Amino acid sequence: MMRGALSDITKAVGHTPIVKLNRVTEGLASDIYVKCEYLNPGGSHKDRVGINMIREAEAAGLKPGGTIVEATSGNTGAALAMVAAIKGYKCVFVMPDKMSQEKISTLRAFGAKVVVCPTAVEPEDPRSYYQVAKRIAEETPNCFYANQYHNQANPNAHFLSTGPEIWEQCGHELDVFCTGMGTGGTISGVGKFLKSKKPDIKMVGVDPVGSLYYDFVKSQRITKPFSYKVEGIGEDFFPSTMNLNIIDEIIRVDDKECFLMTRDLVRLEGLFVGGSGGAAVAGAIKYAKASGRKENILVLMPDGASKYISKIFNDEWMRENGFLEEEKGLGTVRDLLAGKPATSVLTVSADAKVHEVISLLKSHGISQLPVLEGTRLRGMVQEVDLLRHLVQGKGTLDSSINDLVESDYATVTPATKVELLKGVLSDAKIAIVLEKEAVVGVVTKIDLIDFLARKATPAAV
Ligand code: PMP
Repeated sequence: MMRGALSDITKAVGHTPIVKLNRVTEGLASDIYVKCEYLNPGGSHKDRVGINMIREAEAAGLKPGGTIVEATSGNTGAALAMVAAIKGYKCVFVMPDKMSQEKISTLRAFGAKVVVCPTAVEPEDPRSYYQVAKRIAEETPNCFYANQYHNQANPNAHFLSTGPEIWEQCGHELDVFCTGMGTGGTISGVGKFLKSKKPDIKMVGVDPVGSLYYDFVKSQRITKPFSYKVEGIGEDFFPSTMNLNIIDEIIRVDDKECFLMTRDLVRLEGLFVGGSGGAAVAGAIKYAKASGRKENILVLMPDGASKYISKIFNDEWMRENGFLEEEKGLGTVRDLLAGKPATSVLTVSADAKVHEVISLLKSHGISQLPVLEGTRLRGMVQEVDLLRHLVQGKGTLDSSINDLVESDYATVTPATKVELLKGVLSDAKIAIVLEKEAVVGVVTKIDLIDFLARKATPAAV
């Protein structure tokens, strides 16, 4: 073989550069660096996962000419397809329909078959992309179901490859590793390795508003997920590839801040990255502002901008979705709360007694209340649960409400768009508004109706 050449393209995976951010981080005490995983040959950090998964599948008996099936939002597919192309495997990928056309076309370009499924169904629904992928895998002979949400070869790839590489590049000088979380493979694998070398290194996970992770990490509650536009991060179920215990801090970001930061990274730093990279940097900056410490923070940039040209980098799409400043749309949750009577938000403490809650609900004419432990949201208590508690005769008026706290709510932020609330409230009883972990408001269906009615007839206000 010619000197200086690699034996095949998979040998070019990894060894991605780490680059300092300069303009978007002005004024921060911390330094923020990015790990340019988008420069991998298949286009993302998932190249490392694709290689490791196929290596393990072969060890477990995948034969030449076999088929690889996966439920993927694109990047894992591209990685598997790249390795499969070299090794002569066939690929079938199943994707949710919110994914960009570029991602679908990329997989087809590698010779893969792509099946598109509806996004707006539960993961257990037979039409969901997880279930369709599983079914195809069961029906195809000599087939390997990559199953990135439950295959430990995914986090292991980052434990074996991304983690050691980062350690070698930054060593003891790294204080914080920050990344978006989808399957959780990245944060779990990198975290396991880096913590084995430096136990006090911090893992910061970034989660989009609408995903389950944030509320679960903060309050151990499985709240109501709802849809958002940023691709590849956040989940509506808990993959077994995600080790939530590795997370030291979780930061929430909304679509608008993800996309505006993604544009800034390209335009101010020359980094041609995709939306989940923007999300992770937006989260890292929030973390750095809140901590105020001088730390070295490394943020992983999963994939590149080229897949999002028709979305994040298209002004028309950004404006249609209300992500550009000049477009106000129906406004935000902050506007909605401003129109509500100016009473402070009612909450109860987790050790309150049933009779106290009943009298609060009665005197304010409401049917549910957020429950706090200290200043932290613990869940919600509803009149129907109090009723059941009393009717079943198990508890008394003097019992604590602790066992009645439940999770039939979604959490949003003051910046959440009113347009999104319709979907949120069709699934959840109420939306609890959190700002920096504090409950700053509650939005019910009637609050939304009232707000929209006022908008429609301003003269009547
Ligand atoms: N960003 C993008 C664009 C992705 O495709 C993914 C994978 N779903 C992630 C981030 C998250 O990585 P992980 O699955 O390792 O948590």
